[in-house]
Amino acid sequence: MSQLSIAENVAAVKARIEKAARAAGRSPDEIILVAATKMNSAERVAEAIRAGVPVCGENRVQELVEKNAQGAYNGAELHFIGHLQKNKVNKVVGVCGLIQSVDSIELLEVIDSRAKALGIKQEVLIEINIGSEDSKSGIRENELPQILAEAENFSSVFVRGLMAIPPISDSEGANRAYFARMRKLFIDNSAKKYDNVSMDFLSMGMSEDFEDAIAEGSNMVRVGSAIFGARVYPTKTNQASVL
Ligand SMILES: *Cc1c(COP(=O)(O)O)cnc(C)c1O
Repeated sequence: MSQLSIAENVAAVKARIEKAARAAGRSPDEIILVAATKMNSAERVAEAIRAGVPVCGENRVQELVEKNAQGAYNGAELHFIGHLQKNKVNKVVGVCGLIQSVDSIELLEVIDSRAKALGIKQEVLIEINIGSEDSKSGIRENELPQILAEAENFSSVFVRGLMAIPPISDSEGANRAYFARMRKLFIDNSAKKYDNVSMDFLSMGMSEDFEDAIAEGSNMVRVGSAIFGARVYPTKTNQASVL
């Protein structure tokens, strides 16, 4: 992994985004960079924001609450991008500008009632399990029309688009077909009009594959390791393992 500073990495990621956007005949300004900040300290997150990252995406509620209390996200927008348990919704609704990972009607309903109690409208994305993997969260493609239709009953949520994490791949370009499927889903459902739904954001693409995602219409990329370096996960034996 890169030994460059976070600021240098952010500059390099922005240059990659710009190049991919131009190659696709799109403006780089259309593409929102979300730094996936999991396992990085408040200090490192702040460094990324100083380097020009406009949005931070956090995966775990506990980590989000701790770092938020430390002021880690000051100066940036905050999104939730991990699996959200219904009993933790209160810690996220109204705190995050966008919850990218709504994966059931039940979760949407709980978010709606919390947002209603706060007197706000919570923006969300629907997460699609585009590879139909049992190990992943997200709804199946064919469940999307139903959840969008249900959103009409939830006046305190605003569905702003779709998010996906395609299967892990080790060959370049392997996810392009999944990104293309997401684009089709996004466009097909943009044409339909539902209350409380506006298909504005298509969140897909991570460190290894965001160029392909941009080529297929992504306008929100979630980038972790290309900004912060490889994440070091502690193991049971207390040895470091790099994933
Ligand atoms: C960690 C994470 C990312 C970023 O992954 P990298 O491969 O490190 O860029 C993007 N999206 C989600 C939901 C994540 O959890």
